Amino acid sequence: MTVYKIAIAFPTGPCFGVDRALKLTREVLKYKKPVYMLHPIIHNPRVVSELERQGVVVSPPENVPEGGTVILSAHGTPQEIKSLLKDKGADVIDAVCPLVEHLHRKAREMIDEGRFLIIVADPHHQETRALVSHLPEGKYAFYKDIGSIPQGQPLGVIFQTTYEYAKVPDILKDIYSLSDDIRIVNTICPATRGRQGVIDKVGHKYDFIVVVGGKNSANTRRLYEKALRYADAIWIEQAKDINVESLGYHRNILIVGGASTPIEHLIEVYLHFKKVIQ
Ligand code: SF4
Repeated sequence: MTVYKIAIAFPTGPCFGVDRALKLTREVLKYKKPVYMLHPIIHNPRVVSELERQGVVVSPPENVPEGGTVILSAHGTPQEIKSLLKDKGADVIDAVCPLVEHLHRKAREMIDEGRFLIIVADPHHQETRALVSHLPEGKYAFYKDIGSIPQGQPLGVIFQTTYEYAKVPDILKDIYSLSDDIRIVNTICPATRGRQGVIDKVGHKYDFIVVVGGKNSANTRRLYEKALRYADAIWIEQAKDINVESLGYHRNILIVGGASTPIEHLIEVYLHFKKVIQ
């Protein structure tokens, strides 16, 4: 009989901020329905469908009715959207993660110190859009536009909370050439570091890595890209997406989930493998 090794990587599952927002939503649903969300609270279609069945309505802010109950994302919400909801008299519950609020505070602090702020982030990410809505125009730029940042002035540097830690040293090398007065605040979330780091720690021990998570989750995509550096890998949303043929000759299987993948989804995949190959 062929012997397979199958393991689930830890740490895994939703980060503290998303887990907190999910718990808050489920608590509010006990007392109020519907509860509006401006976009899915977690980048996981299965979890979002379950919430919709319980009374969550995902809707753009313009369509939230007067006085409706709205839960705002763990990743932060742009100021203009908060103002629009206020004008509608919405009952707003802000589930922003305390670590995202910390990022906002540090960004403003460095601008108040007279520093030009470099934001190392994806400008289109929801967290980044919320962040820049709190900042004065002309006082910041994104790292990707580093060529346009004037040299020789005091600089501040912050990172998207989910930024890939391994890229930081090269980025800082670029930034160090711009000024002698640079303050760097490491705003990369420990939950992100732990989850990204798990593949670096144990990925080499496996020859097949199964990444489980929503296809709309940026951090799950990064995990998948990282997994490919160590082994053959597939990216699935749920156990029924597994094609056992894809295992080929592989015998050592690691199952890993993104920050938006509940642990139950990983256990489902684990049990599925156990059932079909052992
Ligand atoms: S990744 Fe970190 S900062 Fe972002 S929501 Fe989760 S716990 Fe908060």
